[in-house]
Amino acid sequence: MIRHSNKKSMNPLIVAPIDEVFFSYQGEGIYAGIPQIFVRFSGCNLRCNYCDTPKSLKINSGSKYFTTQALFEYITDTYNQNKDKFYGQEPSVSFTGGEPLIYADFILELIQKYLKNKFSIYIETNGSLPQQIKKIYKHCDVVSMDIKFKSACKKDLFKEHTGFLKICKNKVFVKTVITENTAEKEFVKAVNIISKVSDKIPLIIQPASFDNITNQKVLKFYSVATIKIKDVRILPQLHKLWKIR
Ligand code: SF4
Repeated sequence: MIRHSNKKSMNPLIVAPIDEVFFSYQGEGIYAGIPQIFVRFSGCNLRCNYCDTPKSLKINSGSKYFTTQALFEYITDTYNQNKDKFYGQEPSVSFTGGEPLIYADFILELIQKYLKNKFSIYIETNGSLPQQIKKIYKHCDVVSMDIKFKSACKKDLFKEHTGFLKICKNKVFVKTVITENTAEKEFVKAVNIISKVSDKIPLIIQPASFDNITNQKVLKFYSVATIKIKDVRILPQLHKLWKIR
């Protein structure tokens, strides 16, 4: 995070790199289909081999730095331009990326100063930064958390994922992207850590959209998960089927 100081007031201005702010419909997980304003942050601490937002992995020339006030104004403008598409539903902002929790301090200020009581707060995260979610989870309405497998990101993150789940177990649902390389052993481990925190946390099994994973493998994983978790669903990325972003 870059901080600029205003020498006159000596108040630090928190800024964060943003790739894009746009209206669309949620395409993943148990809230698929709801209208939202999406805020895509630049930068990610992981490198998953199936990443579908490679442009947002690094802070790049297309990223623009926003203060919380400037971003709030951009979100409000985007909402006002698309208000009719919400059809009276609650205004909702989805923080996505990249990995938005890299900028948890920025998000905290944005919510506390500007978004509170105006927008419901939805966060899409890779679930690897428990110390960062701790800063903001009280202000979030929904946490969409991925469990990442070593076969995809070359890191064993189960310790971090467990800590993360414990912090936000009442607001979280979990998504696991499954490819033909996902091992049943690592999937079972994910099911175990979720169910140990709470068997009521919903689990979405999301077959990777580019992948040759067989229905048989997906259904096998589904059957394994339902032994320990009450709410398990198989859902592809709907925005790709709808051909929207
Ligand atoms: S965590 Fe998400 S944004 Fe980061 S590399 Fe993995 S899929 Fe891409």
